[in-house]
Amino acid sequence: MNKFYIIFAISIVMTNYNFSQEKKQIQKSDSEWKNDLDNLSYQVLRKSYTERPFTGEYNLHFEKGNYKCKGCNQTLFSSVNKYESNCGWPSFDKAIPSSIVYIEDLSHNMKRIEVKCSKCNGHLGHVFNDGPKETTGKRYCINSAALSFNKK
Ligand SMILES: [Zn+2]
Repeated sequence: MNKFYIIFAISIVMTNYNFSQEKKQIQKSDSEWKNDLDNLSYQVLRKSYTERPFTGEYNLHFEKGNYKCKGCNQTLFSSVNKYESNCGWPSFDKAIPSSIVYIEDLSHNMKRIEVKCSKCNGHLGHVFNDGPKETTGKRYCINSAALSFNKK
């Protein structure tokens, strides 16, 4: 009986723990986001806008460090996984596990996989299957305006 009680207590603690983890998700109103972000980052992260190719701050940026979500500061990509794809946007062959959510995007008469930040639900870009074959084969095509950079 005692053993059962302990397991029961532990499961309650675990449930609450999971719940509080989920509550760490960032929820802001549209006007709060507008206030907290510059206009381009707001358009990209909150309105799924795509910045013009070859214009972004991190397109040809190859310093060592981590790329974070500009909306909530969650680490999304490491410079180790960044590569030059010549597509005009920062490209990565891998994301930090659990930092990204994947959503089927059927807009513009295309079938694409949209990638969003798992913490603030901000739009980051899309992931394609034409990445480097010698690593993952994935190309995370990400808007610079959705990112900030932390130098190592
Ligand atoms: Zn975020």
